[in-house]
Amino acid sequence: MVSTRRQDAGFERIKLNAVILKGRNDDEILDLVDFARAEGLDISFIEEMPLGDVSDHSRGETFYSSDAVQARIETRHALLPSAESSLGPSRYFRMHDSDSRIGFISPHSHNFCSTCNRVRVTVEGRLLLCLGNEHSVDLRHTLRRYPGELEPLKQQIVAAMALKPERHHFTTDGDVQVVRFMNMTGG
Ligand code: SF4
Repeated sequence: MVSTRRQDAGFERIKLNAVILKGRNDDEILDLVDFARAEGLDISFIEEMPLGDVSDHSRGETFYSSDAVQARIETRHALLPSAESSLGPSRYFRMHDSDSRIGFISPHSHNFCSTCNRVRVTVEGRLLLCLGNEHSVDLRHTLRRYPGELEPLKQQIVAAMALKPERHHFTTDGDVQVVRFMNMTGG
């Protein structure tokens, strides 16, 4: 039988991310935690961000806060705050009887923009400086202009950091802030 255990595949830790939507999958929170515990995985629960225009539901209607997810988990497992970090926005908690970490990524209820160190590169070579804004620079143009040279690219990336916005302006009531869907941005 093929093993799916992370240790057997040589990974030190694997983290799952789950976006919880009220009335859609909030009834699966405890199952997800139990799955992570059984498989020795970490899991982070993420508040939905208003990326892309959706027509099948209003974002206000499906908003489910990290505090609500935490309260649901604590009906079964006590969560102990941890100072651990994976160099990203997750706030971690531990359980006394498991190695799995439970994380919360809370762009609405616990805004973490002030400590954000994230930028992303799209498949078209555009360096996006923020998930919640359109600020970006075109790396493809530089790559094509200076083939094989790293320095111009490096200078452009360093200079772009000055353009990184301070924060997003998301609201939970469904106003679309960014037209770009997450699958255009990349994870
Ligand atoms: S600054 Fe932008 S990318 Fe960073 S956490 Fe805020 S919204 Fe996300």
